[in-house]
Amino acid sequence: MMAAGQAALHGKSVLLLEKMQHPGLKLGITGKGRCNLTNQTEIEDFLRRFGKNGRFLKPAFHIFFVDQLRSFLSSIGIPTKIERGNRIFPDGVPAPRVSRTLKNWVIDSGVIIKTHSPVSKILINNGKIEGVKLAGSETVIHANNVILATGGTSYPRTGSTGDGYLLAAEIGHRIIDPQPSLVPLEIDTPFLAKIDGLTLKNVTASVWINSKKAAREFGEMSFTEFGVTGPIILTLSKIVVEAVKHNKSIQLSIDLKPALDHRQLDRRLLRDFHQFPNMSFHNILKKLLPSQLIPVCLQQLKIPAQKPGSQITGEERKHLRLWLKDFHFTVSGHRPIDEAIITSGGIDLQEVHSKTMESRIIKNLYFAGEVLDIDADTGGYNLQAAFSTGFLAGISASQTLN
Ligand SMILES: Cc1cc2nc3c(=O)[nH]c(=O)nc-3n(C[C@H](O)[C@H](O)[C@H](O)COP(=O)(O)OP(=O)(O)OC[C@H]3O[C@@H](n4cnc5c(N)ncnc54)[C@H](O)[C@@H]3O)c2cc1C
Repeated sequence: MMAAGQAALHGKSVLLLEKMQHPGLKLGITGKGRCNLTNQTEIEDFLRRFGKNGRFLKPAFHIFFVDQLRSFLSSIGIPTKIERGNRIFPDGVPAPRVSRTLKNWVIDSGVIIKTHSPVSKILINNGKIEGVKLAGSETVIHANNVILATGGTSYPRTGSTGDGYLLAAEIGHRIIDPQPSLVPLEIDTPFLAKIDGLTLKNVTASVWINSKKAAREFGEMSFTEFGVTGPIILTLSKIVVEAVKHNKSIQLSIDLKPALDHRQLDRRLLRDFHQFPNMSFHNILKKLLPSQLIPVCLQQLKIPAQKPGSQITGEERKHLRLWLKDFHFTVSGHRPIDEAIITSGGIDLQEVHSKTMESRIIKNLYFAGEVLDIDADTGGYNLQAAFSTGFLAGISASQTLN
């Protein structure tokens, strides 16, 4: 939508072909319905979030970065505000309305949107774009330029089913193997049903691969019917996906009291047991844990729920402390790519001009967004990359139309 709108604003005739009933369905469910649009972070740090491929985005960010995105959104009626972690959200505009507003801007810019129109082929003549063909139709739509912005391959109900990879591969582009990134993890434990729906805030989760600590994140996570998700789990998932691929053993350890080291936590537990000598262990745990976790703790520690605080032995206190600092389980895998927040892999960046987003193989073919081999952490980075590359692709395509 950004690419189409920009090309039209530069006076060109633009047709946006959308496979679904509306463009921007995925945008409408981002950020848990709140749309984490971008992040108020310095450009160098922003680029780092994309790993080694980040530098490809430099020219796009150079012409359209956080401030430009915020002014643009504000100009179309979407004011923004900064929240925790420098995340930028619309101020009072839910994600589905952000998507509708953007679509209206696209139409107002002069773009014709044709929905229910899945592109099935990009037509080339003598190494130059000729147009596209729609699925189930022999009609050729002639075009001087094509911008491919078909997204990744996660959440297929939003229309992102990986078509762009096939379309580009068919005309000679190399595709870096699409993989789930930012994906929930499956854990192997009998007590999952007891804690399904539980959210833990301010905890530290560490991933151990083949018994070696591989990564650690502090923040929020949740349990689901199949395992774990939430911001810190999604961030850790990248490393887990790699480890699963290589059949490594993976453990997830949660420190439920990261603000206290072992000595401080021991003192805190001693104080609680002394302060409440007649209170049952079960009730003392209420001061330490969310209620959903108590049955799990009791079951794992095998300390009788009714045992009064004064009778908890030094050994039992030590077990509790170790449990609170290392509540762990085996990671048995990750959810399928359909459920990933983002797809890593995609159009090989070696074959795309970063200053224009034009293909190095086929003239007048451009790329934008997640279809490219770029992906970052949660925090608004992925949407900014989609908007920035879309902006650059739209402007570049409009300049070559003559
Ligand atoms: C649940 C969820 C939450 C997210 N939350 C955030 C967040 O808060 N912040 C953030 O930065 N990122 C978030 N992301 C990631 C972000 O949504 C994507 O990176 C971004 O939408 C990519 O934009 P895009 O335009 O490249 O692709 P998409 O948004 O996937 O759009 C691609 C479009 O192309 C259409 N299309 C596909 N194939 C064809 C075809 N053959 N013919 C015609 N049309 C076609 C699709 O129907 C779709 O409309 C989230 C992702 C998910 C799944």
